[in-house]
Amino acid sequence: MISSREYLERLKAMKPNVYMGGELVSRDHPLIMPGIRVIALTYDLAQDPQYQELLTATSHLNGKRINRFTHIHQSPEDLLKKQEMTRVLTRKTGFCIQRCMGVDAMNALSVVTWEMDESLGTEYHQRFLNYLEYWQERDITGCCAQTDAKGHRKLRPHQQPDPDAYVRVVKKDAKGIVVRGAKRHITVGSYAEEIIVLPTRVMTQQEKEWAVAFAVPGDAPGLYLVNRASAPRPRRHLKAPLASFGSSDTLTIFEDVFVPWERVFMCGETEFAGDLALLFALFHRHSYTGCKPAVTDVIMGFTALAAEYHGIEKAQHIQMKLADLIGVAELVYGAGMAAAVKAKRSASGTWIPDPVFCNVGRRHAGEHIYHEHHILSEVAGGIPATLPYEDDFFSPELGELVNKYTRHRPDIPAEHQHRCFRCIGDLAVSAFGGVWQYAGVHGGGSPIMETIALLKNYDLEEKKRVAKELAGIPEE
Ligand SMILES: Cc1cc2nc3c(=O)[nH]c(=O)nc-3n(C[C@H](O)[C@H](O)[C@H](O)COP(=O)(O)OP(=O)(O)OC[C@H]3O[C@@H](n4cnc5c(N)ncnc54)[C@H](O)[C@@H]3O)c2cc1C
Repeated sequence: MISSREYLERLKAMKPNVYMGGELVSRDHPLIMPGIRVIALTYDLAQDPQYQELLTATSHLNGKRINRFTHIHQSPEDLLKKQEMTRVLTRKTGFCIQRCMGVDAMNALSVVTWEMDESLGTEYHQRFLNYLEYWQERDITGCCAQTDAKGHRKLRPHQQPDPDAYVRVVKKDAKGIVVRGAKRHITVGSYAEEIIVLPTRVMTQQEKEWAVAFAVPGDAPGLYLVNRASAPRPRRHLKAPLASFGSSDTLTIFEDVFVPWERVFMCGETEFAGDLALLFALFHRHSYTGCKPAVTDVIMGFTALAAEYHGIEKAQHIQMKLADLIGVAELVYGAGMAAAVKAKRSASGTWIPDPVFCNVGRRHAGEHIYHEHHILSEVAGGIPATLPYEDDFFSPELGELVNKYTRHRPDIPAEHQHRCFRCIGDLAVSAFGGVWQYAGVHGGGSPIMETIALLKNYDLEEKKRVAKELAGIPEE
């Protein structure tokens, strides 16, 4: 396992290929650093005795102690720990821990490469295991690039006027493949050492060139990362953990990128593309049953604190709203726990969480995110939206008056009230907050995707049999 300092050093040594605002920028650009600080937590806390048990695991490849963000789940207990780790770490950042995409993609590959080999006689699984060993040994932070540019939404990949709308193989030879296309919205793209590319949907037999999965270093020749960074407005006086973190997402462009065969994990096996796409989504939705309850914990904490600072915490309507938030957090977490307990061991040995419980959990979270923010804004009132800038609280001329009128309760220091409402502003009424509310809907797949996955995995016929039995309708 490595330290966060080593991670940062390695990022700095990568070839520059990150673009932002029309310029080529270094990976330690001040707007990218807030996201890097989130990932740094996953390295630092893994070395902290208090968190070691949760943040580390034993590699099933060689018995070495590894960061849990590089682990392939070997039991339901592993899935429960991943879920708990995700909640614990997300609470520390206030919105997302970001390192889950890479490990979720690796878990999906561990299952599907094995299945392809069994069914087709390919050699993907051993290739994957070699790559996994490298990944674990170097304690890699990776991202998952699944969502293609997709072009016209009603057309399949092979029907698109521009065939590059989905990432595809444009050349193949004895050494490897050359890929072209783009993946959108790739969180961590600009500070990932490795980018794992997976198909985004089921592929038909005409779509061999788009049925492709592989891993490339984040600075591979021909790879361009167009970065969009999000973070709270930096603080000058009242430093706060929440304000030090942020995130980045990249439009990830593959302009004829060469990938050697040892890093290719699917190439033309159309019948497995959908399995791989859905399995990543499943592992990732299970991660969401850890992070989304933490997001609710944060919203709930600020709602309760704002109510207390207003002096209205005992009011009945406030209690009802807090109960709503508790319901969201714990039902989503409970669904993730059930998904882990009901997990099944795949033939590869990797444990797969239950799809129904994962999808009901993630769907419930996605459908409630704006409701949760509604509650926060109702209880907090208008202050987070109109709070004067931080410097005005420290102005020699008006600072005292600004503090005086921001204070609601004389028994609570003005600074605490100021801190609380500034953080609510960061979470609820800022560009950063907007990105993460939006991510609450779409990250890991929009609620409609969870609905489809749910209905596909649910036995509705069995429910009809229950109804028939109760109604005395004979089975045909
Ligand atoms: C902040 C953030 C971070 C993300 N991080 C990652 C990441 O790290 N890696 C990654 O791979 N992805 C990531 N995503 C992508 C996320 O999974 C997608 O946004 C999500 O799957 C929706 O895809 P889309 O944005 O292309 O929307 P679209 O698929 O374009 O959906 C838009 C609308 O069109 C509808 N629609 C789409 N296709 C059809 C159709 N054929 N027929 C009818 N209706 C249709 C959808 O239901 C939806 O209502 C991230 C997204 C966000 C917002």
